[in-house]
Amino acid sequence: MKKTIAQAGREAFNGKRVLVRVDFNVPQDETGAITDDTRIRAALPTINFLRDAHAKVVLMSHLGRPKGKTEKYSLRPVAARLKELLQKAVSTQVQFVEDCLGETARTAVAKLNPGDVCLLENLRFYPEEEKNDPEFSRQLASLGQIYVDDAFGTSHRAHASTEGVTHFLRPALAGFLLEREIVMLSETLNNPARPFATIIGGAKVSSKIGVLDHLLKKADVLIIGGAMAFSFLKARGLEVGKSLVENDQLDYCRKLEAEAKAKGIKLVLPLDVVCAAEIKAGVPTTLVSVENMPNNMIGLDVGPETISLINSVLSECKTILWNGPLGVFEVPEFAKGTYAVIDTLVDLTTKKVKTVVGGGDSVAALQAKSVKESALTHVSTGGGASLEFLEGIELPGIACLDEAGAQVGTAR
Ligand code: AMP
Repeated sequence: MKKTIAQAGREAFNGKRVLVRVDFNVPQDETGAITDDTRIRAALPTINFLRDAHAKVVLMSHLGRPKGKTEKYSLRPVAARLKELLQKAVSTQVQFVEDCLGETARTAVAKLNPGDVCLLENLRFYPEEEKNDPEFSRQLASLGQIYVDDAFGTSHRAHASTEGVTHFLRPALAGFLLEREIVMLSETLNNPARPFATIIGGAKVSSKIGVLDHLLKKADVLIIGGAMAFSFLKARGLEVGKSLVENDQLDYCRKLEAEAKAKGIKLVLPLDVVCAAEIKAGVPTTLVSVENMPNNMIGLDVGPETISLINSVLSECKTILWNGPLGVFEVPEFAKGTYAVIDTLVDLTTKKVKTVVGGGDSVAALQAKSVKESALTHVSTGGGASLEFLEGIELPGIACLDEAGAQVGTAR
């Protein structure tokens, strides 16, 4: 396990400049207004802990994918929102710094008093950030005396502010958000209460092969939905009409099914499917069994028989991990399967089943259905990062942090 800020203790931060990588990559509308501040709120426990410990808090983040410096991708509105959120708790200084390094950043950081917070401008205004440039990392590192990573969503990338900086600045510690992600996801994978079911959906088998392979070593039940299911059904020799299929993955699907059988893992595929001629709201839909798919239609959601089967299988399980929608949930006609699974997960959570949602489109489905994250045991904040974590890959932004129990190190 990685060393956390709580393990380091409040005294360790007293009067220190603490450089914190957060994920403030928030969605904005055309006017630049923040449409969802979840990611800012998610960092508050770490920021407040450090402020209470009298640290000088230097926050850094990326926003979007800017090509050079543009006002559109400035973190200024995020700093304003952060100030509002923090002032609800206690009055504090939150300063926006117009550059993430150089004289501007150094001067601003030097003026901080214990308990103050500043947010540096978008790291990705410099291409060196994503290139993990050592000199850029060294300059970032020079702003702090302690490094804290609280940006799970970017921990699968070795960038200057996630991995590079730790070559020049130690201790390198995990913030509360990162700690919770690591604990929840690794406990789910490595020490689940059994039976342990995983539901994997989404568009492509090819993008989930790593996850499927890893979960085959961990889970008792594997439920497959979304467009992915049609490759598995075709691999069984069924006709799937115009459904999205990856013909080059059929051998893989057969291999996975054989492996699941050999290991005694229950593999659940759809029994019935909601079909339509096109992916559009308001189109006529047809419900068919998987044996009777019309050759001119696309399978776009699982049907009621499948939902009943999934519900009955899940009701026997003690841990459930869900990644990827079961249908095209963005179109109301094809959202029922995904929404039914969400209802089941919410219900089972109240019955002490551990329910974990692995980022990306599943989180978008929760939001579309207005389900609060607190209704489930854990909702991961990372899309790509949680997928890679579930593949069993060691994420570079986590691997580089200090180990718990290790002596507080010096920069490498
Ligand atoms: P992924 O990013 O691989 O998790 O895929 C998520 C996307 O898969 C969502 O945008 C869904 O609309 C899409 N999806 C789910 N089921 C289907 C389906 N049966 N046919 C086409 N796309 C689907």
